Amino acid sequence: MDTEYLKEYLKRKGATLVGVGDVTQALSRELIHLTKGISLAMNRGLTRDTNQLLAGLQKLTQEWLKKQGYRSFSIPPDSDRWKDKLITRLYPLVSHKTAATCSGLGWIGKNGLIINEFYGSKLSWSTVLTDAPLTIDRPITESQCGDCDLCVKHCPSGAVTGNNWSRRDPLQEIVRYERCRSLKGKRRHFSEKPNCGLCITICPYSRNGLRHPTGNRKSEQEILQKS
Ligand code: SF4
Ligand code: SF4
Repeated sequence: MDTEYLKEYLKRKGATLVGVGDVTQALSRELIHLTKGISLAMNRGLTRDTNQLLAGLQKLTQEWLKKQGYRSFSIPPDSDRWKDKLITRLYPLVSHKTAATCSGLGWIGKNGLIINEFYGSKLSWSTVLTDAPLTIDRPITESQCGDCDLCVKHCPSGAVTGNNWSRRDPLQEIVRYERCRSLKGKRRHFSEKPNCGLCITICPYSRNGLRHPTGNRKSEQEILQKS
């Protein structure tokens, strides 16, 4: 099966990154037959428009797979969590983080988000599961944050624990989400500006695009002054 063709096709249609991973270990019983996770990422903030573009890419993926005679199932982009609808029940089935790390597109950073070496945490994600015999990419199984602790040091709520993610220890606490939510809730009362997100903007991978030629070059101090 021509996996490279599918990847190039989806990139021509607007995907920034496309990867394929074996997600068998993370699947719930209902989906155990759909062992491959196609991870789709766009280099855009998670807005309603991005959501629609990602959903469009998922539709194209599913149509292509169906033509080849294979089954598939889409896990929608994260912003659909905001809506109170049935689709929110799909998220526990398999996460975009699982598909992205199994596809080798990133690791879970100390900030609890998918970090890609070129785009940091600034990508929006969606996933298509399938039983098609696609060629899988090499997974990333350990954090590559190394000694960096910028998000730990600067998180205003103390939510970032500093623990390094590893696929071998999926239950380890990376971010204390109740602290993060509590801080954002308090800020929402007096600010229309994004109520935090410092753990994204301070991250060297997001900030400098470390290996990305067009990454912005803001210094740590510049970002802290504006936060
Ligand atoms: S969004 Fe802000 S409060 Fe929440 S984990 Fe990131 S830096 Fe901490
Ligand atoms: S700021 Fe540093 S420790 Fe935090 S996610 Fe980015 S690379 Fe990892």
